[in-house]
This record gives sequence, structure tokens and C-alpha cells, in this order.
Amino acid sequence: CGIFAYLNYLTPKSREEVLDLLVTGLKRLEYRGYDSTGVAIDGPDNKSIVMVKRTGKVKVLEDAIHENFSGGEYSEPVATHVGIAHTRWATHGVPCERNSHPQRSDEANSFVVVHNGIITNYNDVKTFLAKKGYEFESDTDTEVFAKLVHHLWKKHPNYSFRELVEQAIQQVEGAFAIAVKSKHFPGECVASRRSSPLLVAIKTKTRLATDHIPILYGKDDKKASSDQDAESGKPQELRPHGQTRELPVLPRSDSTSEF
Ligand code: GLU
Repeated sequence: CGIFAYLNYLTPKSREEVLDLLVTGLKRLEYRGYDSTGVAIDGPDNKSIVMVKRTGKVKVLEDAIHENFSGGEYSEPVATHVGIAHTRWATHGVPCERNSHPQRSDEANSFVVVHNGIITNYNDVKTFLAKKGYEFESDTDTEVFAKLVHHLWKKHPNYSFRELVEQAIQQVEGAFAIAVKSKHFPGECVASRRSSPLLVAIKTKTRLATDHIPILYGKDDKKASSDQDAESGKPQELRPHGQTRELPVLPRSDSTSEF
């Protein structure tokens, strides 16, 4: 499948512009998965998240977005910083809207996730979360990740968005790339990968902007440490305008029982 996320840390764009960018991104990735598609973006008050998901090709989603956001259900003008998008090649659960991404943590869309790959221990995590009262609405492995982040957020109310996703990643096994958006952290997006490709393109004129991009770096990742500041863990220098950087792999914790 393909995941695509857009983050503009400094200046918000109109929701229509961000949706156009997301659809363009999905079209470029469509060759990687084409059974269903979806996007998540800020709702009218910027304190909620709305999703549009469709079975079929990106064109079907594009038409649904135009229907919903230009004169349709979500037509109010909204300035937004973040959107995430997905084109799926199903591994767990048949292609249908319910199994399409983004997958969500709860009915309020508190945390929404797009995911490429497979979470191989999803059944264990699902059993754990079910005991905590979570009810699942899809057959995907992805949904457990959204609900795990939600569970951690309730348990650690002071954690940053990045810390929450970092903790969740330490509990899951498999190969994946993910992007997460939350109504509790508006204007932020956290992305990470393990053994799957994920590229970040940074377009900025100021150092300040990159300092705030929550890229998850693995501490023992040689590729990452070579261009990171040892103390802060942040990139030491900007890539020239328009270039991409490949994210390093985040190591997995061995203590799966502690979440
Ligand atoms: N395992 C996930 C699912 O079945 C993601 C599949 C993909 O990479 O498209 O929904």
C-alpha cells in the first residue's frame, strides 16, 4: 500500500488545498495498492477529525471528496496544518470501507492512523485492548495501533504525541510505516517506520521548522546517528531545498508485556 501525509508546521493551508495535495500523493502511490483509499483531515472547528474512505481507486475517493467538501457535508472553509492519506492493498480484512484506512481509536476519531505493512502480533495487542474495554470495528491489524495509542494517551496524559506513538511502536512487531494524526494534538503529525520505506520531504527556509518535525529516530541506528546531533537527537543540518531523507528504523523493545 501507500501512505501519504502532509504537515505544514508554520502556516495553515485551506482544507481544499491540503486535500488536493493528499489526492495527488495517493495518485503517485496508487501502483502500490488499489483496493481502497481514504483521507483524514481537520473538521470544521479544527478540534475534530473527519475521514472520507472508499472502496476502489483513488479517483473514486477524489470524487467523494469533491462531493463532500465542495458544497457537501464538510463544505465550511477550514484552515489546516495536517492531513493523512492511504491507498490500500489488504492483508488483514477484505477490501471494504470499514477496513479502509485511516483506522481510528474511537468514535470521536481521537487518533487516526494510516499504515503500510503488517503488525504481526496484532492479535495479542487486540486481546490486551479488548480486556481494557476496546471494541473493534474492522478486521485490520492497523486498528489495534490506533487504539493502543489511545490507551497510552489515557494512561500517560502528559506524554507528547511523539512519546505516545514511540511507546506504541515499542509494543508492536512486524514491518511497517505509519503516520498518525490526532484531534488532541492539532497541527502535529507523527510518522515512523520499521523495515518499510518512508520518505520525508522537507521544504523550508528556516531551521526552526525542522526542529519541530517529530521524526522518530532509533538510538542505535547508524544511518541516523551519522547526521544527528548526539545530544539533542535532531538533524544537524538541513537537506537542500526539495530533497528527501530516508527515515531510520526504530528499534523494538523486548518488553511487550509492559504496555
Ligand atoms: N495490514 C494493513 C491492512 O490490511 C495494511 C495493508 C497495506 O499495506 O495496504 O489493512
